[in-house]
Amino acid sequence: TSLVVGLDIGGSKTHGALWADGVLVGEARAGSANVQNVTPDDAARNLAELFRELTPAGGADVAQVVAGSGGVDTAGDAERLRGLIRPHAPGAAIDVVHDTRLILAAGGARTGIAVIAGTGSVAWGVDGEGREARSGGWGYLLGDEGSGYWVVREAVRRTLHRYDAGQQPDDLDAAVLALNGVATPTELIGLFHSGAGRTYWAAQSRAVFDAARTGHAEAGGIIERAAGDLMQLVLDVVDVIGLPGPVVLGGGLAMHQPDLQARLRYRLSDRGIDDVVFLDRDPVMGVQFLVADSGRAGR
Ligand code: BGC
Repeated sequence: TSLVVGLDIGGSKTHGALWADGVLVGEARAGSANVQNVTPDDAARNLAELFRELTPAGGADVAQVVAGSGGVDTAGDAERLRGLIRPHAPGAAIDVVHDTRLILAAGGARTGIAVIAGTGSVAWGVDGEGREARSGGWGYLLGDEGSGYWVVREAVRRTLHRYDAGQQPDDLDAAVLALNGVATPTELIGLFHSGAGRTYWAAQSRAVFDAARTGHAEAGGIIERAAGDLMQLVLDVVDVIGLPGPVVLGGGLAMHQPDLQARLRYRLSDRGIDDVVFLDRDPVMGVQFLVADSGRAGR
């Protein structure tokens, strides 16, 4: 049997899958191993936990690992991640690719534009000649507009503005305060700077979507801006390589928030982009497509 491990390493979680001769035989989940936003120790611990579950007998028989990860921007980043994976699959060929590659592959596309709106955000595309373009994906300190982290930061900023302006907390303010277990908005400032990571904040994005669903206009406004920013990422990529295939979207927000999906679909359609696919399968499933494809190409 030929064992292949796929890893989807996002800003908040790692999703692993195991294939034996092309048949999915196991899945496991652990915390993030994204080298951009967890410490090397945490990444190592999360990977160890994941592999313990995925390959309980040890990874000695694993022939190939394909890891799609956020936060991999340089050859050095990829090598560091490879080093963290190697102890768990010592005999395997380890390919580290950017997490966008999994999105396109999970959509069954070889060319096109992948967008992630999850904990972070990014767009990347590739055409038939192998020309690539990317927009965003700079991480939460520099960008990540339209991501889960960004949505919540905007909500927190709004709560602070309103408090500064002497306004009584409304439903969205109350939700933000309750989620963080604080009574006054000013307590959020310290929390934000105390090292509660971006995973922590991104996890609260549902509250903003819930508020929008119940008619909260400003929550809807935040989501509208997120859709606009994500659309702009796509347009940037189109400026460089054109539109070489479908726009495939993955990540927690893009996959599970119908309101964001509808707004984004509408905006993209307005720009003449109608081949838009929101993934309904886990991005890690794209690994099988990548492996089959590289086998066909003879590597
Ligand atoms: C990271 C990117 C990643 C994106 C989506 C961003 O925070 O910097 O590398 O592709 O999130 O996961």
